[in-house]
Amino acid sequence: MKIQVLGCSGSIARDSRTTSFLLDEDVLIDAGTGVGDLSLDALERIDHILLTHSHLDHVLGVPLLADSILRRRQARGAAPIQIHALPETLAVLRDHVFNNHLWPDFTRLPTADDPVLRFVPFEIGQVLEFGERRVEVLSARHSVPACGFAVHGPAGGRGAWVFSGDTGPNPDFWERIGQFPVAHIVIETAFSEPECRLARTSGHHCPSSLAQELTRAPADARIYITHIKPGEISAVMAGLRALDQQRPVMELLRGDTFDL
Ligand SMILES: [Zn+2]
Ligand SMILES: [Zn+2]
Repeated sequence: MKIQVLGCSGSIARDSRTTSFLLDEDVLIDAGTGVGDLSLDALERIDHILLTHSHLDHVLGVPLLADSILRRRQARGAAPIQIHALPETLAVLRDHVFNNHLWPDFTRLPTADDPVLRFVPFEIGQVLEFGERRVEVLSARHSVPACGFAVHGPAGGRGAWVFSGDTGPNPDFWERIGQFPVAHIVIETAFSEPECRLARTSGHHCPSSLAQELTRAPADARIYITHIKPGEISAVMAGLRALDQQRPVMELLRGDTFDL
């Protein structure tokens, strides 16, 4: 089981791609601009897309990917790509993206009976199974309904890979991930310390709010910081290191891979 970081930036600029991870070859976790670096062959192999929430930096790859791979998947009779998300997230996609104004409704194309995309709602706490791989939906606290994910590793492995999604402080997240072995935590810190107010009102972390939360992090887990705005990386990482000397934190980088 392997997870590849396709994008982990809070926004775009040269060499910055927004949130997207590839689990093995067929499961995409969020569909930010990092998806656009995959080859057409690799895009075609994606059978499932898991979305943390409806914000554009996490979903914009879905409509474009559908268009790119439609012909190839139809030609080989592949099943629709399943888009797994909270019901509120799927409603936003339906009403505001696949509404035949912003983009064609690929949940009814090329035909309503055999579309290229299918929406599959999930709820917090649900465990999705893809073959032997188990992905648990974790709670998040953001400005819109949102979630994180725990990819549970194989039995006897080093533990789960946990992704917070976009979130501010959230006791429920730490309580849940304290109940199973965790090897890696990918958690957001979207804003630098001078912007803590903005972080609070928009449902994100800044260094001091994250440092407070990390006191609850499982002792053995490695901490990776994601979703930093371009241009703010050194400020955020310096802020985190100044506040929490005990807990080493690393900047997550595009191209990083995790083996579970
Ligand atoms: Zn967001
Ligand atoms: Zn975001």
